[in-house]
Amino acid sequence: MASPHIVVVEDDEGIGGSLERTLAGQGYTVSWVRTGAEALAAVDPGTALVILDLGLPDQDGLEVCRRLRSGPAAPQVLILTARAEEADIVLGLDAGADDYLVKPFRLAELLARVRACTRRIDDDRDHLTVDDLAVDIGARIVEVAGSRVELRPKEFDLLVALARNAGRVVTRERLLEDVWDEHWFGPSKTLDIHIWSLRRKLDPEGGPSHISTVRGVGYRLDAP
Ligand code: CA
Repeated sequence: MASPHIVVVEDDEGIGGSLERTLAGQGYTVSWVRTGAEALAAVDPGTALVILDLGLPDQDGLEVCRRLRSGPAAPQVLILTARAEEADIVLGLDAGADDYLVKPFRLAELLARVRACTRRIDDDRDHLTVDDLAVDIGARIVEVAGSRVELRPKEFDLLVALARNAGRVVTRERLLEDVWDEHWFGPSKTLDIHIWSLRRKLDPEGGPSHISTVRGVGYRLDAP
């Protein structure tokens, strides 16, 4: 299989150069560009992931993200931002980003996110495996460490929505839309209650939870 193509969009020479070297060293095919216009030109249907700085010299990275999402290539988008404020992170996810990292970040953390983003492309869409968690979507069967776990229908749908995005945060809004209804106007407390119930069933021993809360944003399914 060809190595995944990653487009790095970063006008900071130090950060861009270090990302290019690190990713190439891990076997990825890397295109490093410095502007939004170059980014849109560099992405093609074979591009697996775009690592996108938000503060670009020619245009707002959020606009680049929107245009990538509405184009035919539709790669995964990982936002790099110095804007640590929660509101900006939510804006990025709303613009269609799959995940984000706040600068300064550790390269090890970036590589873990990159692996999560590129792995999703290769998933067999009917069977999802996250560490000791196995989900057979067609048969609606869930196992943790080889033991069957019985979930109610909404709990199962919620788990699938999180497992399809394992390692990345899924916003509360998207979970409510995906699992309940695109016109869901009920209390978002419903989501919290289902997450609570799902955690109890997946992690009955009270050990580390499969599901992390990203405060003010949403939830993320992690390997424990
Ligand atoms: Ca920048």
